[in-house]
Amino acid sequence: MAASTVDLSEFTEMIGARDQRRPCKVAEPLAALSEGDRVKVEAAFATDIVVIPSGAIEKWFAARGHSVSNQAIAQHRKGRCRCADVRS
Ligand SMILES: [Zn+2]
Repeated sequence: MAASTVDLSEFTEMIGARDQRRPCKVAEPLAALSEGDRVKVEAAFATDIVVIPSGAIEKWFAARGHSVSNQAIAQHRKGRCRCADVRS
């Protein structure tokens, strides 16, 4: 079988490069916010989910013209997104 001798690293490198560049769905609108709004929402992210549910943050973003899903916000708060990779 010739397939086993083929070097596939060019393809695997593509996957890695694309993954690194793909932003978190929260990161993009976050970068578009004013400094004051960003500080405010970062504080909301850090607040207990019972006090500030992700749905409330979703509406907050929507009021500023950003469509961010409840799910993306929840993942971001739990650190299950690209932002967490950058931070750690
Ligand atoms: Zn994120």
